[in-house]
Formats: sequence, structure tokens, C-alpha cells
Amino acid sequence: AAFAALGLCPAILSALEATGYTEPTPVQQKAIPAALAGRDLLVSSPTGSGKTAAFMLPAIQRFAQMQKEEAPAAAAAPTERSRERRGNSRNQQQPAAYPALLVLTPTRELAAQVTAAATTYGKHLKSLRTVSILGGVPYPQQLALLAKQPEIVVATPGRLLDHLKRGRINLSKLTMLVLDEADRMLDMGFIDDIETIVAATPENRQTLLFSATIDSRISHLTKNLLKTPECIEI
Ligand code: AMP
Repeated sequence: AAFAALGLCPAILSALEATGYTEPTPVQQKAIPAALAGRDLLVSSPTGSGKTAAFMLPAIQRFAQMQKEEAPAAAAAPTERSRERRGNSRNQQQPAAYPALLVLTPTRELAAQVTAAATTYGKHLKSLRTVSILGGVPYPQQLALLAKQPEIVVATPGRLLDHLKRGRINLSKLTMLVLDEADRMLDMGFIDDIETIVAATPENRQTLLFSATIDSRISHLTKNLLKTPECIEI
């Protein structure tokens, strides 16, 4: 099988050429076409299986497609963002960032890897900004990142929730949510944070959940999170 057979567009295929990957891994073969078709996914696949590309490639492509479809409408009417900017002028707070894609990861290391992947795979797509929002990074630095109005946010749950509560990130425009290494996030006690974050996202989002193991905690979490998911086991 080849990447081209999975339904990926020329801009992404050409970015993939530079990585030297010759063919998709098993998790990529199964997850990419299903995610491109708009399905929710429940994927059990270990670290090292190529899972980052399995969600990042379709995520970037779906974003690029939606951007193309929405372009004429956006030019016609004043956007919510510009209205909000005027409304906020009194209290000096910078306007919230409205990402289209949010990837939650358990650790800083994983977030760095996911952010690098987004940059690599999206390099031929115009105006695709990715930032990572991680605990331990000074707030002024993160506010500067959010001020760029990134389309993709890669975050650890605690710090993301913090910005959400302060009105610096707004998830009402989110089209896709990815939970990477969900079992590790639960191990680290992020369940309440994840549920609060999910509650701030639109019902009609697409959700992809990746986990090394699918146990009863994961099954419980996915009940409210995923809509008739395609289950993929590697
Ligand atoms: P991951 O499971 O996402 O952490 O990926 C593990 C490693 O495999 C990373 O170093 C990727 O760059 C690499 N990788 C991902 N997909 C492929 C592929 N199709 N062919 C070769 N290497 C890959």
C-alpha cells in the first residue's frame, strides 16, 4: 500500500516525501481513510507504531478542506473574532484564540513531537499555525503564541484548561479533538480536566482517541466522547 492510496492530497503527499517514509504503517493504513471520511476513532496502538502521523495527516487535510470551503463566506461578513476584538478593547485582554484542531497529550515531550509533526506534514499548506501550550512555560510567552491565532493547538490538559478558564482560548470553533495516549493522561489524573475541556467543544466535532491499552476507564471515557467510533486495534 502507498500513502497516495489512503486519500491524502498532493500537498501532504509531497510533504511526506521529505520524511523518507516509503509506506504507511498498519495504524496509518487503517486510521487515515476512516478519519478522512469524518469518522470518530478509537485506536489502540503503542508508541512507535506511527500513530502521530495516523492522526496528524488526516487532521491537517480535513482542516485544509474546510478552510477552502469556508473562504468565500468568511470574506462576506464580519467575523465573530473581529466583533470580539472590539468588545474586549475596554479590559485590555487580548482576544481569545479559536483553534480548529486541539491535540491533548500527557507530556511535554509528546507535545513537542506532535507539534513538530504538524509543522512537517503541513509545510505546503498556507496559514497553518501550530503552537504548543504546556505546563511550566511562562504565561507571557504563551500569550504571545496564542495571539498568533493558531489553527492547531497541542497541549497538556492542565495548562489548556487554565487558559480556557481565563478566556484566552475558546473552543467553540473546534472541528477536531485528538486525545493522544489517553491511558497515560488518565494515569496522570487528568480525567476531570479532560471532561471540562470536552464540555467546551462543539457537539459536532470529530474526535480521535489513541491509547496503548483500552481498559474499562477508557471505555467509560469514550461513551460520552465518541460518536459511533470506528475501533482500530493494532
Ligand atoms: P509514533 O508512533 O508516532 O511515535 O512514531 C514512531 C516513529 O516512526 C517516529 O519516529 C516517526 O517519524 C516514524 N514513522 C511514522 N510513520 C512512519 C512510516 N510510515 N514509515 C517510517 N517511519 C515512520
